[in-house]
Amino acid sequence: MKCKICGNKAVIKLRAHNIALCEKDYIAFFEKRVLKTIRKYRMFDKDHKILVAVSGGKDSLSIWELLLSRGFNAVGLYIDLGIENYSEDSKSKCINFAKDKNAELEIANVKEYFNGLSIPEIARYVRRKTCSVCGLIKRYIMNRRALEGGYDVLVTGHNLDDEVSTLFGNMIHWQVEYLARQFPVLEKNHDKMVKKVKPFVTSTEREVAAYALMKGIDYMEKECPFSIGATSLFYKRLLNELEEKQPGSKLRFLNGFYENSGIFQTFRKELKLRACERCGYPTTETVCSFCRLRERIGNIVEKSEDRL
Ligand SMILES: [Zn+2]
Ligand SMILES: [Zn+2]
Repeated sequence: MKCKICGNKAVIKLRAHNIALCEKDYIAFFEKRVLKTIRKYRMFDKDHKILVAVSGGKDSLSIWELLLSRGFNAVGLYIDLGIENYSEDSKSKCINFAKDKNAELEIANVKEYFNGLSIPEIARYVRRKTCSVCGLIKRYIMNRRALEGGYDVLVTGHNLDDEVSTLFGNMIHWQVEYLARQFPVLEKNHDKMVKKVKPFVTSTEREVAAYALMKGIDYMEKECPFSIGATSLFYKRLLNELEEKQPGSKLRFLNGFYENSGIFQTFRKELKLRACERCGYPTTETVCSFCRLRERIGNIVEKSEDRL
């Protein structure tokens, strides 16, 4: 197998693109495609102040690596969720990466907002699924830290597999309102809402992993213990089976959806956003779900302290 560009020994074959490449040419090919996605969807440019949400995993560290190596002004944000045997390791991956690249890393801690409680503890107290509580808290903290720090845009490492499995799930259940909103760019539509973008939406998980490996990124291989058995992982397996039979299916499915997203816009309900009475961040209600969660936790902690 020879590299299509230089003729040297190829190290990776991409059936979806009908191409085999050596390490050097793969890195160039991968970065070029991501930069094209950034331009196509007008995500940001070199004048913007970028905040990258990093978890210590391959996707988020790879997008941070790519942006730094291409001269973008990109600062990392790590959110400590307090998950035992997971958060400490993932945090040190981010800290080491930042040191190694001489990059700036901000660290936020969930415990600071919730009376010293971790994500699993909060979920147990309010009897909700860990992943839904975690998603709500992370989204809020990412947006707030981005605004407080004066960033123009928030970048996440969601890859093609993530997006396609979300799309598939939304279609299976015909969640037309979600379909109307699924896009690689979420524009700022409130003065306390930051623009959010996903530059890896056209790169598969395998392509990102290959990039991370070739770039020598020391990332966290362990998955979050709460993600085991998630429906999205089941969808990913199904879609990989499809990709195996018909290379390029995932990319065609997602690109076709973006190109035809107008179809779903009639289902879009315009959300009336207003400022939360407690924190001032956008919500459709009087008090935002983050502040309501904080108040519930505060009450529960107080009650259990009374009992002591
Ligand atoms: Zn080559
Ligand atoms: Zn609030």
